[in-house]
Formats: sequence, structure tokens, C-alpha cells
Amino acid sequence: MRLVLVDKKTEAEGTKSFFFEPEEIVSYLPGQYFYFTLPKLKFPDERGDTRHFTLSSSPTEGKTLRITTRVREESGFKKTLDELPFGSNLEGRGPNGTFCIPSSGLLAGRQVFIAGGIGITPFRSIIKFSADKNYKTPIHLIYSNSTPEQITFRKELEELAQNHKNIKVFMTVSKPEEGRELWTGLIGRVDEKMIKSLITDHQSPTITWWLCGPPPMVEATEKILESLKITSDQIRIEKFTGY
Ligand SMILES: Cc1cc2nc3c(=O)[nH]c(=O)nc-3n(C[C@H](O)[C@H](O)[C@H](O)COP(=O)(O)OP(=O)(O)OC[C@H]3O[C@@H](n4cnc5c(N)ncnc54)[C@H](O)[C@@H]3O)c2cc1C
Repeated sequence: MRLVLVDKKTEAEGTKSFFFEPEEIVSYLPGQYFYFTLPKLKFPDERGDTRHFTLSSSPTEGKTLRITTRVREESGFKKTLDELPFGSNLEGRGPNGTFCIPSSGLLAGRQVFIAGGIGITPFRSIIKFSADKNYKTPIHLIYSNSTPEQITFRKELEELAQNHKNIKVFMTVSKPEEGRELWTGLIGRVDEKMIKSLITDHQSPTITWWLCGPPPMVEATEKILESLKITSDQIRIEKFTGY
């Protein structure tokens, strides 16, 4: 379907959102992704003119679709996307994917989301959806970034947690010394100790664990959950291949 680029927004250091108006209303579930094909690559890219991106928007936010990505000069695709003028047409294919809430809209039991970097996109969509619908499902987000400046949707996530008792957000920074802000929050990658201290009842069989981010981060976190004896049927995974 035809998508028209209508807006761009810087979300964090090196990270931007792009907003698209689809030619028809898209029915999607929070967490799903789309294939985006550029009209023409302005800069060469050996991976071609198509990428998949999770919709970081929530269906409760109206017709406009939003994606959020780290924009790197080295990616011809992303450089082209970043320089596209408003009103440009892209081709979109979707929605796709099962890393999303069920079509009933309800998530049963407690949900623990673990995101690395740009892996926050499906969780932003799901948390926003859940908050807009006023669902009371307990959600715990553990979100890891290298520096405070790289935390995408930081203010919004903090506000969502402040305004909804069922939503808890923990942010951790693995390289605080590389950031400009004096970071006083959690430090280090998500490891066994951190999971145990943040999710004290981590062995509860009613928790569903969701992992999303670059493949090495997701694989490392999956191993930690296995070592905590969390069974695979409690774990849902989305790997952002390509990073
Ligand atoms: C289901 C699914 C959903 C996805 N959703 C999203 C999403 O919501 N947002 C998103 O951003 N991506 C998402 N992705 C990944 C996305 O599709 C791209 O593969 C990814 O963004 C990488 O794109 P790229 O190769 O154009 O650019 P980049 O990897 O950004 O850059 C291109 C090149 O830069 C170099 N490079 C990469 N990392 C570094 C580094 N740290 N330092 C120096 N050089 C580097 C490498 O040579 C790389 O090939 C998703 C993937 C899947 C499978």
C-alpha cells in the first residue's frame, strides 16, 4: 500500500521516528511490523531498498503509522529515508508478525518486557496501547541502553509509569561514562542479578517474558532466563536482525 511521509522527529541521540499516512486505514496489533520500500535509493545500499520496521505507534493514536530507528550514515537506506522530503511516497507491506498482543487486546498475567536499544519499539506500542485502553495488566519494562542520551521515548515512558500504577519502568545504562548526563540510575547490562533484584518473583509461572533488540542482546538474555529456570513457553522473542 502507498504510505506518504508526513513527519520526522528526533527521539534520542541518533534515533528518529518517521510518520506515514497510509492510503487506507491499517488494522494492526501493537508489536507488529511492516516492510518499507523506498521510492529510489539516493545513496547506495547493498541490503537494498526494503527493510522491516516495527510500528512504534499504537492503533489508539489514529491512522498515522510511526516507525523509529537508529539513523546511521553507513546505511544508504536510512540516509535516503532521512533525507526524503515530506509528501514522498513509500511502499508498505503489512502488518506482519506475532510478537504482539492477542487480537482480543488483553494480556493475561504479568508481563515483563526486556528491551535493548532500539528494541523498545514494540514495547512502546504495547505500553501506549495498554495505557490508552486503561488496561490494568501489570507490565514491567527493563530497558537497557549504552548512554542516557540514547534512551528512546525516555520522557514518555517515565510519564506512562508515573500515571499508571500497573506500569513499572526500569532503565539501565551500560556505559554511563560515555554519556553527558550524570546518570544516577541503574548501571550495567541486563544480567541475572539485575533481573532477580527487579523481578523478585521471577520464578512465577504466571509471568510472560518478552525480549526484543539486536540478536546478541536477545540471545544473551534468553540464556539468563534459562539459567533462572524460566521455561521457553513463558518467553517471547523478537530479534532485530540486520543490526
Ligand atoms: C521483525 C523485525 C522488526 C524490526 N524493527 C525495527 C525497528 O523498529 N527499528 C529499527 O531500527 N530496526 C528494526 N529492525 C531491524 C531493521 O530491519 C534493520 O535491519 C536494521 O535497522 C539495520 O538497518 P541497516 O542495515 O539499514 O542499517 P545500520 O545497521 O543502522 O547501518 C548500516 C551499516 O552500518 C554499520 N554499523 C552498524 N552498526 C554499527 C556500529 N555500532 N558502529 C559502526 N558501524 C555500524 C554496518 O556496516 C552496517 O551494515 C527490525 C528487524 C526485524 C527482523
